[in-house]
Amino acid sequence: MKHSGIARRRCDCTNVSRRSEPTLHPNFRRYLVWARKERDSMTSPKLPLTGGCSCTAIRYEIQAFPLLLYACNCTDCQTASGSAFALNMPVKRRHLSILRGKPKGWHRKSAAGEQVTTWFCGDCAAPLYGEREGRPDIAAIRAGTLDETSWLVPVAQLFMKSAQPWIKPVLEPECYESTPADFRTLIDKWRAMWPDFFRGSDA
Ligand SMILES: [Zn+2]
Ligand SMILES: [Zn+2]
Repeated sequence: MKHSGIARRRCDCTNVSRRSEPTLHPNFRRYLVWARKERDSMTSPKLPLTGGCSCTAIRYEIQAFPLLLYACNCTDCQTASGSAFALNMPVKRRHLSILRGKPKGWHRKSAAGEQVTTWFCGDCAAPLYGEREGRPDIAAIRAGTLDETSWLVPVAQLFMKSAQPWIKPVLEPECYESTPADFRTLIDKWRAMWPDFFRGSDA
């Protein structure tokens, strides 16, 4: 059993909850203002987004703005990234094109019993994106593989129950003990962060 016996820090957020409807974090509005200010001080991302693995054998592009960006502190993401958390960025699978190379797939069953595939570079082993049985239209990009990462501000922190104790967001985004029951709420907040990319869109 991984990390057994290690005390886990509980998130300080007031909205940590297992209820089906996550409530708006009281500081989220402040986070939104901060995130927009950060974003506006940088070059706005340009579509298509491009990225690839460390050795550049694999290159990809994403034609539409991502559906979401969140930090995941679950122990699977810690192991897979070799780091404290992963920055996961779901996009529509049809908007992801592999421009060069052929990712290798690592297949496993999730804790919920779903088939999960992690696609990675067979040469340098960099994980690029994941797919799961229950949502075949979505690819969860490892956002750190993008060429331009300066604009990546996560809308939420998931799995705070296994977050390293020193993880303390600059300003608290939405925080969850594990995952939100309904990702729709996070998607709405993500859209509020990037109105220019979602104006008039229901994709
Ligand atoms: Zn590579
Ligand atoms: Zn995770």
